[in-house]
Amino acid sequence: MVHTKQRLRDLYWWPGMDCQVENAIKACSTCLQHDKMANTHVAPLCSVPTPTSAWEKLAIDVVRPLNNAPQGCCFAMTLIYSYSKWPEIAFAPDVHSATVVKFLSTVFS
Ligand SMILES: [Zn+2]
Repeated sequence: MVHTKQRLRDLYWWPGMDCQVENAIKACSTCLQHDKMANTHVAPLCSVPTPTSAWEKLAIDVVRPLNNAPQGCCFAMTLIYSYSKWPEIAFAPDVHSATVVKFLSTVFS
């Protein structure tokens, strides 16, 4: 926003320019997606029903790229059994579908 206003002021000025620039940038979805300073809203935590039996519900997630990880361990795939909270974790060089399938096949076997 500051940079845009500075660049505009080099060539143009009109009454209300700063406010119009701010409003235009605030309304721009592309700028919002790439704004590292934008406030992000964390979704509220809410409880989920506890499964009544094993294997009823699983949760899988991928933690992506791990900085300073050994080669071939850039991603961590996690699978958690919601019933027992038991975690299964595997490290992988990528998260292509074949890699995820291999991880799940290993766990399910
Ligand atoms: Zn924009």
